[in-house]
Amino acid sequence: MARRKKLFPCGHKGYGQICHRCAQKEEDREKKKQEKQQWEETFAHDLIDLTDLPKNVVVKARQIISGIQEQQDYRQFRGKRLRHDRSIVSVPVTRNYRLICRDSENLLVPEAVISHEDYNVCKPGS
Ligand SMILES: [Zn+2]
Repeated sequence: MARRKKLFPCGHKGYGQICHRCAQKEEDREKKKQEKQQWEETFAHDLIDLTDLPKNVVVKARQIISGIQEQQDYRQFRGKRLRHDRSIVSVPVTRNYRLICRDSENLLVPEAVISHEDYNVCKPGS
């Protein structure tokens, strides 16, 4: 007997007991959800809040932060002290984001990653 496509309640047509198109969709959705959750869990290890930033900015910022934590010179990351507040170091993360650190007794403490717009609107320390 030739197999016949049947109409599933979801509106798709196919063979078998369940709709494979919907099953695949559901699987993809689960996988995405898991990946998202795993990604969100990584923020628990961050010293500063990076949750609202684009992924590439987060990854880059983490590299810089861990470098600074290992006592690498901020100048290696093209960081600069602010002219109007020498205790603040600004390190470029991407073209649009920078990491702001505070120099506290010769220890650089990461404070925030801010976008270029925020940086220009409200200069830290002013
Ligand atoms: Zn379906």
